[in-house]
Amino acid sequence: MILPSGSGPDSAEFAKTCGNAETRQDTKDESIKDRNGTARRQDEADGSGESNPSAEVIGVLNPEARKYDHMSVADRLAEIRSDLTPNERLCAEAFVLLCSGGTLETTSFYEFLHWWALSGYSYEGCINYLVKYKFRGGQSSFAIRLFREAQASGNLTYAFSRPVASISDKGDGVQVMTRDGQTFEAARVISAIPLNVLNDVTFDLPLTPGRRTAASIGHVNQTVKVHAEISDRDLRSFTGISYPHNELIYGFGDGETPVGNTHVVAFGGQHNHFHPEDSIDHTIAALQGFAAMNVERLVFHNWSRDEFAKGAWFFPAPGLLSTYLKDMRAHQGNIIFACSDWALGWRSFIDGAIEEGARAAAAVRADFAGRAKI
Ligand SMILES: Cc1cc2nc3c(=O)[nH]c(=O)nc-3n(C[C@H](O)[C@H](O)[C@H](O)COP(=O)(O)OP(=O)(O)OC[C@H]3O[C@@H](n4cnc5c(N)ncnc54)[C@H](O)[C@@H]3O)c2cc1C
Repeated sequence: MILPSGSGPDSAEFAKTCGNAETRQDTKDESIKDRNGTARRQDEADGSGESNPSAEVIGVLNPEARKYDHMSVADRLAEIRSDLTPNERLCAEAFVLLCSGGTLETTSFYEFLHWWALSGYSYEGCINYLVKYKFRGGQSSFAIRLFREAQASGNLTYAFSRPVASISDKGDGVQVMTRDGQTFEAARVISAIPLNVLNDVTFDLPLTPGRRTAASIGHVNQTVKVHAEISDRDLRSFTGISYPHNELIYGFGDGETPVGNTHVVAFGGQHNHFHPEDSIDHTIAALQGFAAMNVERLVFHNWSRDEFAKGAWFFPAPGLLSTYLKDMRAHQGNIIFACSDWALGWRSFIDGAIEEGARAAAAVRADFAGRAKI
């Protein structure tokens, strides 16, 4: 693991169960860059293009992509075992787990390569795309603006806090029933219900066998994300890997709070999973697994126990995409399933949700116009 050495924001320290070793921050970055570069060299060597997003055509992975989708990251690391120093291995494993929120065994190697390709085949690209740039007002501000734009069209009616209990496709229209007994009717329904909770809604006609099985398998991401406001200003640019023993694996300083404290964000997952609200002392101890810090406030949402999510962003185990991506994307009668979980591009990201929203809108339009299905 890497801990801040206290000698400046660009210093870091590998602290393993067997002892600590100081390194510069950029040395740690090189370790990750090199190890993930191993994946890229494989791509170039066999010309497979398995890490090319175009390896998916209308939801069907090509044979090379399928090969890597049936591998886990644990399988891949075993293949390159002799190339890795212990520190490189720790860095590579921790970074992959930061992305997948699963375990090395349950992380599809293909899906990690997909992220790697989308991020421009570099660790720097990953940090830029996945971590660095964000909305000033947080992601909720983006969602609120989209909502207001729709509202401004004058064509939006909405109902919040009405969990859907069942969806019945009657052939000439769809009936959506909420848990509190309200009924909504429409010619077409676009369902954004994520994979891990799809089977909690009753469908009549039933979901197709492929979609139902995919939903019962689900995705593997059980990320634990904890924000901490700490008074230690010297930690404002630290990056730490506290792995494999600690419950929070990867953490970093993420700017300042309005009162000038340091904002730290830390991530755990299925590897050493825990529920942060079960013991705040325990959660603070996990944060202090990176470095001694004075925690003034914690903010988190437990996505694993959220009954409408049952996990964080989508990340598949080996084989799920090869076997079920096409089923997950398919329309069913008058219901269009649109969710980032089965997007083709930035699957698991907001961009994937937008891609799916556009696909659903185009499909409904084409449907009403009597044109081919999209
Ligand atoms: C901790 C965390 C950090 C993330 N960080 C980023 C990031 O930095 N950048 C990025 O691009 N993406 C990020 N994501 C991913 C991003 O949030 C998702 O990709 C995006 O929200 C997916 O949008 P969606 O509309 O497909 O699904 P969702 O946003 O999951 O929307 C599905 C909705 O369906 C609702 N629902 C479920 N069941 C029912 C039911 N029975 N009845 C009624 N409603 C129901 C849910 O409550 C939810 O509101 C993050 C996700 C998490 C969990």
